[in-house]
Amino acid sequence: MRPSAYPPPFDSAEFVVEPSAPAVERIDVGILIVGAGPAGLAAAVRAGQLLEERPELRERLGDVPIAVVEKGKAPGAHLLSGSVVNPRAFRQLFPGLPTEDLPFRSPVIREGVYFLTEKRAMRIPAPPTMWNHGNYIASLSEVGRWLAERAEELGALIVPETAATHLLVSGGRVVGVRTGDKGRGRGDVELANFEPGSELRARVTILAEGTQGHLTGVALDQFGLASRPQVWALGVKEVWEVARPLDRVVHTMGWPLRGGARHREFGGSFLYPLDDHTVSLGLVVGLDHTDATISVHDLLQELKGHPRFRRLLEGGRRIAWGAKTIPEGGLLSVPDRFHFPGGMIVGDGAGFVNVPALKGIHYAVRSGTLAAETALESVAPGRTAWTPGALEGYDEAIRSSYIWSDLERVRNMRPAFKHGFVRGALLAGAALNSLGRFPRGNLDIQSDASSYLFLGDRSLSYPPPDGKLFFDKLSSVYLSGNQTRDDAPNHIRVRREVPRVVAEAWVHMCPAQVYEIADGGREAREEDLVSVDVTASNCVQCGAITAKGGRLTPPEGGSGPEYSVM
Ligand SMILES: Cc1cc2nc3c(=O)[nH]c(=O)nc-3n(C[C@H](O)[C@H](O)[C@H](O)COP(=O)(O)OP(=O)(O)OC[C@H]3O[C@@H](n4cnc5c(N)ncnc54)[C@H](O)[C@@H]3O)c2cc1C
Ligand code: SF4
Repeated sequence: MRPSAYPPPFDSAEFVVEPSAPAVERIDVGILIVGAGPAGLAAAVRAGQLLEERPELRERLGDVPIAVVEKGKAPGAHLLSGSVVNPRAFRQLFPGLPTEDLPFRSPVIREGVYFLTEKRAMRIPAPPTMWNHGNYIASLSEVGRWLAERAEELGALIVPETAATHLLVSGGRVVGVRTGDKGRGRGDVELANFEPGSELRARVTILAEGTQGHLTGVALDQFGLASRPQVWALGVKEVWEVARPLDRVVHTMGWPLRGGARHREFGGSFLYPLDDHTVSLGLVVGLDHTDATISVHDLLQELKGHPRFRRLLEGGRRIAWGAKTIPEGGLLSVPDRFHFPGGMIVGDGAGFVNVPALKGIHYAVRSGTLAAETALESVAPGRTAWTPGALEGYDEAIRSSYIWSDLERVRNMRPAFKHGFVRGALLAGAALNSLGRFPRGNLDIQSDASSYLFLGDRSLSYPPPDGKLFFDKLSSVYLSGNQTRDDAPNHIRVRREVPRVVAEAWVHMCPAQVYEIADGGREAREEDLVSVDVTASNCVQCGAITAKGGRLTPPEGGSGPEYSVM
């Protein structure tokens, strides 16, 4: 049984509209950026820097030359990452700024990679992709807040609590976005505080929505930009205050994931010191797994019971929790084109993540920077971003950058693991040692939703919550600061009647307990249709449901988690 056989009730054409607001009701901007993550904010900073050098161009772009819309309560509120950062793209964006002034906590001094069994941890040589010498430990929410301040200093207008929901398309060209309504209740009724969304008309629109971007998906469909599927992993992360400092960056492989080809459980954990009393830890697992009872949230709880983690965490306090997907397909899944008439796609939206290295932040910053440079060239006097080929320079810049050469070298490593851990590790090692020349060509990649599912028994050993070391999903959602109103309209599109095995996969996969199988469904056979109940207000917008047969659309701006140290 495969979730792809039950596609969500979603048609991207529904989210494409002709601009219609009269001049007095619309907002005209020069460069419009959707998403205040590292990619979008880097684009805003670079555009601001270039406009400082070219005041005549700033004048030409009107009262709002650069605008960034962000669906989170504030920049950083929806950002979650490991995060060990390669500073390269930051140094390029802020030349002359000493590294101590960049928004990082500390340099990586020591690191270790371990292979776990249920009771033991064996130190193994770190594969070169996981070497972090020269990189820095950070909190991405903090990085986001810092970048937003720099962008504002350079004249960008940042508009939080605002979700871009529709692409404005006129004559086959993207001319901006429509933002979502606020103050609607269940069934879309208008409440007393109703505020309609607005039209933001732009000369260039940069989609920097990160993983599972809603308008990015719409643009990929509408302009036929992608011919290969993307695949995702789900990462669940916690931040803990601990009594003893952690002296190194730790990565683990192996337990609690199973290595066999039948289960396809690809992933690993990370444990990073944020300061002397705080650590970030998380588990990342590919969403092509086959056992429908895999829950990354619960596997992370189980991992904390491992002697190595338990020793560090016991007596400590969990202070933050969150979840987010990572596009994992690398070069084999990126779109064929990164631009469309009137706009470009940057960062995770374009799939710029090096999964074997667990790195995407510096590619996000670099791609945002390159997109801003192309955007400003395209709006110089006598030019428009809508002319065919006007934004092609962005694709060329990406293909000549280290984003491309880095991803090319590791392109076959992720698909190698569909053969199980041992064969995958051997193939991946060969790919790495040959700098990507072996295996020749590209391995095959298939979407997570088309992965075969069966009803396994992995969930039987998840530890019961004790409120100290192990936590349930609902208390975790609470800790994420989730702001979604209980009576907000449902923003999750899924089929409500699906085979039990598909429903079980959603129930277990969702880290926020959004899905439940309605009465009696848990006694049904795997293949029998059951009803699924959806509590959309729990959703932390991790994006996993889009990978596994549903579709996340942006809820009301300002809702969702409020991450501060993620
Ligand atoms: C668990 C985990 C661990 C990771 N560890 C590392 C690591 O250690 N090092 C590393 O380099 N990378 C790591 N990554 C990857 C890295 O976090 C991403 O590559 C990076 O954040 C991508 O940046 P982005 O700007 O493209 O997207 P994002 O960081 O996702 O930002 C996108 C922003 O756009 C906003 N947005 C989206 N859609 C809309 C809309 N329609 N309207 C308005 N706003 C919108 C979102 O709210 C968000 O604020 C990790 C990722 C995860 C999930
Ligand atoms: S419902 Fe929300 S939190 Fe749950 S998997 Fe989907 S996107 Fe993630």
